[in-house]
Amino acid sequence: MTNREIACVFRGIVKDPSMKNESSCALLGDTLPFAHHLCQRLASVPGVKKIEIAGSLRRMKETVGDIDLVAVSAKPESLMKYFVSMSEVVQVQEHGTTRSIVHLSNGLDCDLRVVSAESFGSALLYFTGSKEHGIALCKIANEKGMTLNEYGLYKENDGKKGAMVANKTEKEIYDALGLVYIEPELREMTGEIESAKQNTLQRLVSYKSLHGDFQVQSDWSDGEDSIEELAMSAQRAGLSYIAITDHTKSLTVANGLDEKRLEKQSRLIDRLNKKFHGITILKGSEVDILKDGSLDISDTALSRLDLVGISVHSYFNLSKDEQTKRIIKAMSHPSVNILFHPTTRRINRREECDMDLDEIYKAAKKYNVVLEINASPSRLDLKDVHIHRAQEYGCMFSIDSDAHNAEHFSFLQYGIGQARRGWLSEENILNTRTVKEVKKVLSKKR
Ligand SMILES: [Zn+2]
Repeated sequence: MTNREIACVFRGIVKDPSMKNESSCALLGDTLPFAHHLCQRLASVPGVKKIEIAGSLRRMKETVGDIDLVAVSAKPESLMKYFVSMSEVVQVQEHGTTRSIVHLSNGLDCDLRVVSAESFGSALLYFTGSKEHGIALCKIANEKGMTLNEYGLYKENDGKKGAMVANKTEKEIYDALGLVYIEPELREMTGEIESAKQNTLQRLVSYKSLHGDFQVQSDWSDGEDSIEELAMSAQRAGLSYIAITDHTKSLTVANGLDEKRLEKQSRLIDRLNKKFHGITILKGSEVDILKDGSLDISDTALSRLDLVGISVHSYFNLSKDEQTKRIIKAMSHPSVNILFHPTTRRINRREECDMDLDEIYKAAKKYNVVLEINASPSRLDLKDVHIHRAQEYGCMFSIDSDAHNAEHFSFLQYGIGQARRGWLSEENILNTRTVKEVKKVLSKKR
């Protein structure tokens, strides 16, 4: 059977307009909160029993082309009527009882399907994608004498649709195909089918497993809020420690701190730690890596901090060799704990710096430097494929918000999404540990 035929079995998915825009570029961090809000509103329409986000948004892709929703409703007509007449809708592209598509004022299309409660699992699986993952599942179904589409997984009798095998939940369908459940973030054809067959998929880091955040900027440099406000907000967000990592002196545009101001900040953090209960503030810094790979803060000042993060904020265009050597030299400094936003990319705005990432991963392992997964929606750096690769070198990671105000701790979910897309489990991530364990790890470098 050719790929094309398989695609036809997974009915129309190749031509499906809801799937065609997947390479488009609205940021995950802009789209997901909006989609959650939309779901909440639609869930309150009378008759709605269930509604979930599908598509690349459910897979937590860094950018998305549209919003796909799948619902179960006792009154599909009234749900669709509400959907096409929402205030954000600028154009109705399709209005039916099982499917409607609207164009929203934020520039995105939103596609809502209403399916029967029985086939919710198969519909969710089908509309979550990725396309290639769906095709692979179809192929397995065919090999087992079954057919898979958005209505369910069926036995085949002489080429005709036979008895229903599974459709209520995604898990049932994976089970029937002889696979363990594959999380949406992994459905990208990066080896997940093989691993699911052999039952070697690791349990992914959960969205609730972070205890701390290692990159937070306060109003001492270019952040908007005080250390006190940040600590209180972090605690409300469920964290039990944060590291204050203001910029250092070479970053003059960000009012970077010199040794003297770091010392002064340290005394304030001591006072705040005495005052607060349930949240610990770690003394950190986001130290600039200079052009030659040296750091812009004295060794004595660095050795007094709980956590030293290092970053490239200049000379993005060095040759691959120079950039790699520069970063590795900085990583080899005995006080350095974390390499922040390792590739320096800004999604849709700045490419990754040219560097030999495999060498960087080797150095991270050698010098015991944690690699950051920066969760700021415009960065998501390291990105999914790099995370997956770095893991093979036995690297340790952190997921940090790079907060510049007290609201930004909500970014952590996007970093966790990328970590999951990079196949990470809790053990791979330092800030899933308690503050006591973290201090022990960090202090090995002091
Ligand atoms: Zn930075």
